[in-house]
Amino acid sequence: MEKLSDRKKIFADIIRKAKMVDGVCPHCTEHSLLIGIVNDYFRCLSCGGDIEQKVNGKISYLPIQLKEYDEVKDNG
Ligand SMILES: [Zn+2]
Repeated sequence: MEKLSDRKKIFADIIRKAKMVDGVCPHCTEHSLLIGIVNDYFRCLSCGGDIEQKVNGKISYLPIQLKEYDEVKDNG
């Protein structure tokens, strides 16, 4: 049980440090946790797909390609 508790603590630590949201992933169409990578870019914890978060009145998630993510990463 202690090991399970440790793992939960580590996971909680990751959540605290990273920006995490829950939403429906456009890649796997699952309602799952999305972890923030940079700014409005998130990665689905279910399938590992990269997603761009768009906020236009309501939040929507768009699938992005790794190439685009690399460009964003280069910019800052
Ligand atoms: Zn997914």
